[in-house]
Amino acid sequence: MKLASDPEVEKFRGEFAAFLDAHLPSEAEAVPRPRSSSDLPEWARRWQRTLFDAGYLLPGNPPEYGGCNATLPQQLAHQEELSRRRIYPSYNPQGVGIIAASILTFGTEEQKQRWAVPILRAEITASLGMSEPGAGSDLAGLRTRARLVTGDSGEETGKRAGGGDHFVVNGQKVWTSGAHDADVLLTFVRTDPDAPKHKGISVLLIPTSTEGVIRKPFASIVGPDDLDFNEVFFTDVRVPRENLIGELHGGWAVAHGSLGHERSMLWLSYAERMDDLIKDAPSHEEWFATLLMDAQALRLLGYRQLSGEREPAELSVLKLLGSEAVQAASLHVLEAAGPEALLHPARTAPPNHMSLDAFTASWFERYVRSFAGTIAGGTSEIQRNIIAERILGLPR
Ligand SMILES: Cc1cc2nc3c(=O)[nH]c(=O)nc-3n(C[C@H](O)[C@H](O)[C@H](O)COP(=O)(O)OP(=O)(O)OC[C@H]3O[C@@H](n4cnc5c(N)ncnc54)[C@H](O)[C@@H]3O)c2cc1C
Repeated sequence: MKLASDPEVEKFRGEFAAFLDAHLPSEAEAVPRPRSSSDLPEWARRWQRTLFDAGYLLPGNPPEYGGCNATLPQQLAHQEELSRRRIYPSYNPQGVGIIAASILTFGTEEQKQRWAVPILRAEITASLGMSEPGAGSDLAGLRTRARLVTGDSGEETGKRAGGGDHFVVNGQKVWTSGAHDADVLLTFVRTDPDAPKHKGISVLLIPTSTEGVIRKPFASIVGPDDLDFNEVFFTDVRVPRENLIGELHGGWAVAHGSLGHERSMLWLSYAERMDDLIKDAPSHEEWFATLLMDAQALRLLGYRQLSGEREPAELSVLKLLGSEAVQAASLHVLEAAGPEALLHPARTAPPNHMSLDAFTASWFERYVRSFAGTIAGGTSEIQRNIIAERILGLPR
C-alpha cells in the first residue's frame, strides 16, 4: 500500500482546510469549557454536528454516519489537518470513537438510528462502562450481573436459552470517564455466570436516567476539581432487551471490536501529543533528539500498520512506544523546568480554544496526565506481554 500523497489526497486536504477556516467556532464562542469527556457545551455540540453534516466527523464512514467514504490516505490527511491546528473534533471522544463505532459494527439498524447517530450528531453523549474494581486488565473477570427476566416477576428465564423481555442489572463499574455527564453507558455485564469467563458476557446500553443508576465522580491525580472518573453503581436497574448490543452472551466479540476501534488509531493521539511536545518544549537538550526520533519512528511504524498487511499485535508496539515516549519527554521537561513546572495552573503553550485545556496546562499536569496513556486502553505491562508472546514468540 502506498501512503504517499497524490493529487486526490491534496485536493481533499485543501477542501477540508478551507472548511475549517470557514466554520471554526471563534474564541468568544467557545465558552464554557467542557468539564468532562461527556460534557458537551452548546458550542461544542454545534461544532461536532457541523463536522457530521459536512461528512468530516469520521471521514471514512458513509455520509449517513458522518463521513464521506474517504480513503485511508484522505483520513490521515484529515487527522493531520486537525492535529496541526490542535483542533478537537469531538469533546465526547469515547462516545464517537468507541461507542458509536461499536454500535455501527454490532448494532441493529434500529439501534444505529436510535443511539449511534444521535451520539455522532452530539444530541446525546456516551461513556464506556467496562472496568470494575476487580476487572481492568482482566476484563473477562467482570462481575456486574444482568439477569434476563420476563414481566415484573423478576424470575430469571433461562440463562442460555435467552427468553425474557428485559434485564435486571446489579453491580459496579469504576474509572467510567465522563459518566456523570453522559446520557447513556455502554455497559459490559455478565449474563451467564456458569459459562466460561469469556462466554457469559453481554453488552447493554443503559440510559443514565434509569432508576437505580448512581454515578459518583471522583478526582484525578491532577487536582480535586478535575472530575472525569466515576464509580457507577447499579441496583436492580431494569434495561429493555432491545438495548442489548450484539448477541446475548456474545459481549466478548463486542469488547474486542470496541477495543479494536480504540486501539487501531490510538497511536495517532500519541503522535499528536509528541508533536505538541516538540512545539512546546525547550529544544537544547539531548533528550529532545530522542523525542524527534521517537515521533518519526512512531509515524512510520503507524503508517506501515495502516497498510493492513501487518500482525495486529504490532499495535501494542505502537501503543507502548507512543505512550512511554510522551511520558519520558514530559518528565525531562518537568525536570528541566524545575519548581516553576509545579505552578498550577501555569500555561506551557498559548491556550487554544479548539483543544483541551489539559494539553497546554502546566508541565506538572502534562506529566502526570501522561500516566493515563500508559494505563488506559491496556497497560504497558499488558502490551509487553502481547509483544513477548505474539511477536517474539516467548513462552507465557
Ligand atoms: C485516564 C483513564 C481513563 C479511563 N477511562 C475508562 C473508561 O471510560 N471506561 C472504563 O471502563 N475504564 C476506563 N479506564 C480504566 C482502564 O481501562 C483500566 O485502568 C485498565 O484497564 C487497567 O485496569 P486496572 O486499573 O484495574 O489495573 P489492573 O488490571 O488491576 O492492573 C494493576 C497493575 O498490574 C499490572 N498487571 C495486571 N495484569 C497483569 C499481567 N497479566 N501481567 C503483568 N502485569 C499485569 C498492570 O499493568 C498494572 O500495573 C480508564 C483508565 C484511565 C487511566
